[in-house]
Amino acid sequence: DVNIKEIIEIALHNVAKHAKDKSIKIMVNCPEEVPVIRTDKDKLIRVFVNLLTNAIKFTPEEGEVTIIVEDHEDHLQTSIKDNGIGISKEKRDKIFDKFYQVDSTATRKAGGTGLGLAIIKGIIDGQGGNIYLESETGKGSTFTFRLPKELKEDDFTEIEGV
Ligand code: ATP
Ligand code: MG
Repeated sequence: DVNIKEIIEIALHNVAKHAKDKSIKIMVNCPEEVPVIRTDKDKLIRVFVNLLTNAIKFTPEEGEVTIIVEDHEDHLQTSIKDNGIGISKEKRDKIFDKFYQVDSTATRKAGGTGLGLAIIKGIIDGQGGNIYLESETGKGSTFTFRLPKELKEDDFTEIEGV
């Protein structure tokens, strides 16, 4: 079982230098108490590091990246929002494909292999969750993923007479 706050801390530690080099501020908006979820810790760290790395990579200097965690009834929802270059409508469907990179100067300059999001989607889907993207060209992108909260034994109520 993993605590998402702990995961975020580790991921932030991982990308801190990258963010600092570009004077990008990272903010976290997370409820005081979050339920632990049954997920592979290392894989979830990878998801955060990859999404944060993208957010920093495709956001100009002095930009802002925000992590928002919401506790919903049956799932935990996390959004990673940036105010960077954004992704056009036509490209949005392809973004999770292996090796796909938006063909722009900014992307080429940024390097990488185009595998990050394909790996992330594989991890999230594999843990019973889902991931989607909202974006506006020139304004920024928000990647949101949901992971199911697994019901524990004591979450079940006994029904008499059944
Ligand atoms: P890698 O992650 O393998 O180092 P990459 O970052 O280019 O390489 P992905 O993480 O799969 O690959 O992202 C695919 C493409 O989606 C990127 O090349 C970029 O064009 C676009 N993209 C991803 N995240 C963002 C973002 N936050 N803002 C704008 N464009 C993005
Ligand atoms: Mg990437």
